[in-house]
Amino acid sequence: MSAPTVELPSGQKMPVLGLGTSQAKPNQVTEAVKAAIDAGYRHVDCALKYGNEAEIGAGLKTKFDEGVVKREDMFITSKLWNTSHHPDDVRGAVESSLTSLGLDYLDLYLIHWPMAFKRGAEFFPTDAEGKMMWEDVHFTETWKALEACVESGLLKNIGLSNFNSKQIQAVIDVAKVKPAVLQVECHPYLNQKQLLQFAKEKGLVFTAYSPLGSPDRPWAKPGDPSIMEDPKLKPIADKYGKSVAQVLLRWGVQRDTIVIPKSVTPARIQQNIRVFDFALTSEEMETIDGFNVPFRVVGFDWVSHVPEFPFHEPF
Ligand code: NAP
Repeated sequence: MSAPTVELPSGQKMPVLGLGTSQAKPNQVTEAVKAAIDAGYRHVDCALKYGNEAEIGAGLKTKFDEGVVKREDMFITSKLWNTSHHPDDVRGAVESSLTSLGLDYLDLYLIHWPMAFKRGAEFFPTDAEGKMMWEDVHFTETWKALEACVESGLLKNIGLSNFNSKQIQAVIDVAKVKPAVLQVECHPYLNQKQLLQFAKEKGLVFTAYSPLGSPDRPWAKPGDPSIMEDPKLKPIADKYGKSVAQVLLRWGVQRDTIVIPKSVTPARIQQNIRVFDFALTSEEMETIDGFNVPFRVVGFDWVSHVPEFPFHEPF
């Protein structure tokens, strides 16, 4: 099965379902990428921060060498980490991801978060008290450096991740190359109704990360709500002969969001793309819309003192 695509303002087509790779261990992710391509995936969501781009690149290379897919068949995303927001650091970060992935361009590159952490090699540069240190660089300056990478052909499309509506507007206000995609957490417990509407009005394609509620996140606390275990989803899944995960992904694509479920398990990878052969009724869509808590699995609240922390705003 293959996923339908949406057209980005650049004219490029982005598959509405992709493979997530955060928390995918380097020794598992090569096989996961290969299984995903064999199952029909043509979109992989990566980031320098996930520490596994070389292993993802190895999986891609195998499938290119086998002739299963060509580079231009694939849509590959990566992200700029918070320690590389300084305009002088941006091109190097892009090139580093390209080298690891074994590619000469990226289809999409996102600013991972709107906050700039202190420059340097450490992903989480903290002071003696464990507090995040930050850099006085605004993301609009970072955006300009990304536009230069589009101009030089390293990036086909650029976009934003974990930005709130005011921050998105601030980028739009200065952009020569408009942000093509907004990637944020989204699942029925955090349905992002207002932000989704805002993104649509501004012409950004909306990607839902953690579409299954990220059940494997290491920071999960006892008592956190778990969308995969919501008893109201099971009867809907049973009605279509599908799994709860497939219902969650179907809900996502049916409300015009792109979903990027992570799995390193071949059977689940295959299952997760089989969501284009059934449709939820409008009543079922409304029922699931009504599950909103809201509950964030990626709150990142220990850096809420850093300028431009995005979640102080309502949306
Ligand atoms: P997720 O996709 O919501 O959930 C992944 C978990 O669900 C894994 O434990 C996986 O297990 C399990 N799973 C997958 N398919 C399943 C199925 N059919 N049945 C049962 N369990 C299933 O979580 P996520 O990794 O947080 O989010 C997805 C992707 O979004 C990430 O990988 C990353 O690419 C992106 N993301 C981006 C940001 C950002 O800041 N931009 C933040 C978070 C995530 P196995 O792997 O063991 O099969």
